[in-house]
Amino acid sequence: MGRAFVYVIVGGGVAAGYAAHEFFKRGVSHGELCIVSEEPVAPYERPALSKGYLLPEAPARLPSFHCCVGTNEERLAPKWYQENGIELILGTRVKSADVRRKTLVTATGETISYKYLIVATGARALKLEEFGVNALDAPNVCYLRDLADADRLVEVMQSCSGGDAVVIGGGYIGMECAASLVINKLNVTMVFPEAHCMPRLFTSKIASYYEEFYKSKGVKFIKGTVLTSFDFNFDGKVTAVNLRDGSKLPADMVVIGIGIRPNTSLFEGQLTMEKGGIKVNSKMQSSNTSVYAIGDVAAFPVKTVGETRRLEHVDSARKSARHAVAAIMEPESPAEFDYLPFFYSRVFTFSWQFYGDNAGEVVHFGDFSGTTFGAYWINNGHLVGSFLEGGTKEQYEALAQATRLKPRIENLDELEREGLGFAMSVNKKHPSSKDVGGSSIIVEKPVYVWHATAGVVIAASVAAFAYWYGRRRRRW
Ligand SMILES: Cc1cc2nc3c(=O)[nH]c(=O)nc-3n(C[C@H](O)[C@H](O)[C@H](O)COP(=O)(O)OP(=O)(O)OC[C@H]3O[C@@H](n4cnc5c(N)ncnc54)[C@H](O)[C@@H]3O)c2cc1C
Repeated sequence: MGRAFVYVIVGGGVAAGYAAHEFFKRGVSHGELCIVSEEPVAPYERPALSKGYLLPEAPARLPSFHCCVGTNEERLAPKWYQENGIELILGTRVKSADVRRKTLVTATGETISYKYLIVATGARALKLEEFGVNALDAPNVCYLRDLADADRLVEVMQSCSGGDAVVIGGGYIGMECAASLVINKLNVTMVFPEAHCMPRLFTSKIASYYEEFYKSKGVKFIKGTVLTSFDFNFDGKVTAVNLRDGSKLPADMVVIGIGIRPNTSLFEGQLTMEKGGIKVNSKMQSSNTSVYAIGDVAAFPVKTVGETRRLEHVDSARKSARHAVAAIMEPESPAEFDYLPFFYSRVFTFSWQFYGDNAGEVVHFGDFSGTTFGAYWINNGHLVGSFLEGGTKEQYEALAQATRLKPRIENLDELEREGLGFAMSVNKKHPSSKDVGGSSIIVEKPVYVWHATAGVVIAASVAAFAYWYGRRRRRW
């Protein structure tokens, strides 16, 4: 049993969705393209799972966040694939690949052959067992990587409202889940071994701003220690979390966010690997010329930092996907993937964006007691990275543009004094299109109606409160 396609994408996440859209825009013919995905649903915007999906009221649900709504483009519901002659083979794991013969074999035993293969298998959440801690499949221990995980998390969260949640890990999954747990009225304790949250990106000053806010919402932080074991009840549920420092935390549920590992196993020994992923060139082409890799699984040359990196961010998944398709369908096109790393997160009412590389010395700027502040990273005398909380569209664009241009920085004190004004003035001197040198800067707009609605509701509530408070004060 077998089928043949010109283009096959293995994996059906963010990168696959954007690749399919790019194939469509470039006129792929009906029957030429196929996506094989282990997940039972068409490609969707994965970041929604830790944001809108976990809201207690009016949560985001499919089909509202299928790709490519994250960049305010068409929403590709299953019907779209059907209408455009793109074969979606869902709920089907590819269990082996032979790049020499250009074939894949699925878990159902079907052989799928291709002329070009795009690997978009993403990554999987690291499990506690890989660190020697056994959760014994406890029903109240949750991870968050795919829709099934998110459904489980929602179910467990709703079943223990008012109870105790322990979040293991202080990265973005941990921080975003902790915020959602608070919003869902759980008492949250975060545990991580580092000195502060988001240690791979945040400085201690930036981290302490967010941590203080989390504390004001009742979140407790236990740092510098790790989970060693669980206590279970007779139903196999976790009842407490034991830490290396000897403490025991009561737990009605546990969320684990301790990192991810790229899904490369299909290609180990067949393709060159680097940085834990599939090594590709600036056209996203692997060591086998018929195989391309995109998204979290790809290690590609990041020109702005001068080295090969594997990024785990949605923007990189979207853009690497589009770039690979362009390179396949227009092989003579000289364009290299000249990508400016970009990462964002939204928690509570916060929203930050980061561009470039967080290497070298840091200069903080802005009002850390207010709502807009940021940081620049200066390496070898040049601006290489920037971070901003609470910016406007123009400010984020300016920051991205300044980071891409890597201006020389003579005086760090002056840079601190100028703050955001520095990026704005660089931007004024070098006005650019939104496409900043090959990496279009898509300022992330709220994907879900709830973001916009919540903004309006919050603004209206603040105004109403201010009005009411003002009147009360006047009466006093
Ligand atoms: C909860 C959550 C929140 C996030 N929030 C943010 C954020 O705020 N900002 C940000 O920049 N990034 C965020 N990210 C990261 C971002 O979502 C990823 O970088 C992006 O999804 C990577 O896209 P991808 O297509 O490479 O992988 P994925 O989207 O993970 O897709 C991989 C797909 O391949 C399938 N697959 C794997 N192996 C096989 C196989 N053998 N056979 C068939 N199918 C297979 C998987 O089932 C999955 O469908 C978040 C990630 C998560 C999990």
